[in-house]
Amino acid sequence: MDKNFNLIILGPQGSGKGTQAELLAKKINMKIIAPGEILRKKVKGSTLLGRKIKEYSEKGELVPDDIIKKLVLKKLEKIKKDGIIFDAFPRNIRQAKILEDFLKKFHFRQPILIYLKISRKLAISRITTRRICPKCKEKFYPKSKGYKKGICSKCNARIVSRKDDKPKIVKRRLEIYFSQTKKIIDYYKKQGRLIKIDGEPKLEEVFHQILGKLNDYFKK
Ligand code: AMP
Repeated sequence: MDKNFNLIILGPQGSGKGTQAELLAKKINMKIIAPGEILRKKVKGSTLLGRKIKEYSEKGELVPDDIIKKLVLKKLEKIKKDGIIFDAFPRNIRQAKILEDFLKKFHFRQPILIYLKISRKLAISRITTRRICPKCKEKFYPKSKGYKKGICSKCNARIVSRKDDKPKIVKRRLEIYFSQTKKIIDYYKKQGRLIKIDGEPKLEEVFHQILGKLNDYFKK
């Protein structure tokens, strides 16, 4: 598969977007732009921008579009060619239009949306039980090695919950997902750029589905 295309990977929190984006990036040699990760790094550095981002993200609210716009633009300027996976961006129609304009400006192709569908119930159970390694960012679920001991099986660090993975905040993040982000799916469907995936099976199976459906998409 050549990589002269761009992808958006989207789904509710806990649908495995980040993991699937990484698998795809490795397999097809693509670059990932993940505003969620960029924002978490900014929050760590206690700059004015970091503190502003924290105000929103710790409540589970979307960070203002203007901030996201600048961060994405900075990344795009460095990448300079197609073969990009946007992980969880855009999250509302305004961001979808921002992305469209950026891609036109850089003469990049418009993206195909990979939608990982999982139920609200599964999303809640996956996110509220997941832990992450603060060092290597590996994610752990109740069946993962090291979960019970609370130790990262890769680098031995103590695994933790993300602050915004607390039930009350997860509830707000999902409300935003179902009221704003989900509209994006229709937006791309109307343009014939949607690939719908059942995100509930094991990650290997989900990945297999994505590769198969991407191949079918390009045969159309
Ligand atoms: P995530 O890990 O993708 O669920 O993102 C965590 C938090 O980062 C979200 O709850 C938002 O506060 C913020 N965030 C991530 N991506 C975006 C985006 N595209 N637009 C606005 N806020 C975002």
